[in-house]
Amino acid sequence: MRVTVLGAGAMGSLFGGLLAERGHAVELLDVNAAHIARVQAEGLTLDTERQGRRVVRVPITRPDAASQRPECLILFTKTLHTEKALEAARGALQADTLVLTLQNGLGNAGKLSQFVAPDRIAVGVTTVPADMVEPGHVHSHGEGHIRMMMAGGMHSERLGTLAQALTDVGLTATVDPTVQAAIWQKVAFNAALNTVCGVANCTVGDVGRSAAARQLAHRIAAEVLAVAEADGQRIDLVGVHATLDHALDHHLAHKPSMLQDLLAGRPTEIDAINGEVLRVARRLAIPAPCTEALDALVRLREGLVRDA
Ligand code: NAD
Repeated sequence: MRVTVLGAGAMGSLFGGLLAERGHAVELLDVNAAHIARVQAEGLTLDTERQGRRVVRVPITRPDAASQRPECLILFTKTLHTEKALEAARGALQADTLVLTLQNGLGNAGKLSQFVAPDRIAVGVTTVPADMVEPGHVHSHGEGHIRMMMAGGMHSERLGTLAQALTDVGLTATVDPTVQAAIWQKVAFNAALNTVCGVANCTVGDVGRSAAARQLAHRIAAEVLAVAEADGQRIDLVGVHATLDHALDHHLAHKPSMLQDLLAGRPTEIDAINGEVLRVARRLAIPAPCTEALDALVRLREGLVRDA
């Protein structure tokens, strides 16, 4: 397939690199000059659980210099960069390009609809992990999967072909009509752990070791899931709380991306996580006081690290 990846950081480089390695026509688009220069000069170093460390040759350029006309575009910027990235990559989008977002948070399809016809938008959620070790070098250790569907719920042969291509490279992908509930469930998890770790400047294990912080994380998840249910989603409440406990008990040294962003002085994805939940909660007149408090505190820290 001809696949363009917009936002070739940790996740985008992993997905694009694995597809390129298998012979698909991949173009990576990013704005990180150091990453672009390293991948152009030396190739992309991929380090994965299954295949270890190797170098993959894959074209990379800035979005406004895109040359491929893709069948599929996978969007993997952080949520706060979606509009700017798509604006610059407009030239790459054909009338029939399928655009898939696997970004965290809510409201991603709505942002895409400013640039892409509704019947070309696919949404999804992934538990595949990835980290950028340094420019040109991506690391992914641990299992994960991808669930996706057309945002409008219709059947798409091309989405099925993309799911198969991803599965063939070890990124187990399924087309699943219950993705919206899965997206909400991941948002509940992220709203609970990312924010508490971000504000407290601590690891997931630190939260797990504090009875009060563990209880707070569960209260936030419960609030978010109550909003999801009121919005019409069928939620696996027991499953989300069990996943949260598993992370608190096992991912002890993990620093969630929101904490990593704050430590690096970067803005976070708070608006696509707590911000979106609170917009739905207000529309449905459902109280979400813990989610609201953490939203305010993360935004406070964002301002402090930006001005530091
Ligand atoms: P990342 O910061 O590593 O990558 C984002 C990339 O987007 C960066 O390379 C950045 O330079 C690029 N970018 C920023 N502005 C751009 C623009 N205007 N045009 C083109 N590129 C631009 O982030 P990531 O960890 O790869 O996460 C991407 C998304 O996937 C996020 O929504 C995240 O929440 C989600 N996610 C991440 C993981 C993970 O393990 N890393 C897992 C599941 C979901």
